Amino acid sequence: MTMEVKVKRRGRRAHRLGLLLLAALALVGAGAALFIYSSAQSNSLPPIHRWFSDPASRPALATVMNGQPCPGAPFSLPSDGLIGLLWNDPAAPYTVFGTHTGLDIFGDGAPGEVPVYAAYAGYLSRLPEWKASVIIRHDDPLQPGRSIWTYYTHMAAWDGSRSFIVEAFPPGTAGQWVERGTLLGYQGDYTGNSPAPIGLHLHFSIVLSDADGAFTNEARLTNTLDPSPYFGMPLNISRFPSRPIGCATNF
Ligand SMILES: [Zn+2]
Repeated sequence: MTMEVKVKRRGRRAHRLGLLLLAALALVGAGAALFIYSSAQSNSLPPIHRWFSDPASRPALATVMNGQPCPGAPFSLPSDGLIGLLWNDPAAPYTVFGTHTGLDIFGDGAPGEVPVYAAYAGYLSRLPEWKASVIIRHDDPLQPGRSIWTYYTHMAAWDGSRSFIVEAFPPGTAGQWVERGTLLGYQGDYTGNSPAPIGLHLHFSIVLSDADGAFTNEARLTNTLDPSPYFGMPLNISRFPSRPIGCATNF
């Protein structure tokens, strides 16, 4: 091989590497731009950042209902704290292409300390493999005759080593009647499949049934309901509610 061919090959390889690098940078840039654009369609991140960076700000950010529903609303807030991410919220780590399907309520306390209560009466189930979650089936108070579900998760230590669900609802519980306000467990920071720490909170969503009456996949927005009319609070991100969120009649 002549020196000239070698140099040409090396040059071609360097060119290819350069193109790959450019493509990778463009992908990273597009990803960052998507998160920045998406988070700009929401007002949820500034109060969440304040909640974690300045604990003294917490009393001024938290919605504290002590289990009392808003006037005329069927559901009571399942946990007190900052109602951070809302329904259909595109703020990071979500995006406009995959928005948040429920509410993230950030409690003030350590893992295992902030209580979580049933939002409404119904039949509670916990699948045998669920460490951090329970789900309750209800007759829909806003559309009687239809079955809906409320889902509560992150009730375990970050690594799943301890569940914070009360002993009354062991794995495998199937259709146990609970009243509104029944203690279900305590907020945790269970990360599940997430590689990053998530911070103490309750994730709560209202989930539709499938044709057989089973709950659908709550990770898809179209399987969930806007919780606003159930709680009597503006909980749909399209309202851009300031924090703390309180009871309202128009949402
Ligand atoms: Zn969530």
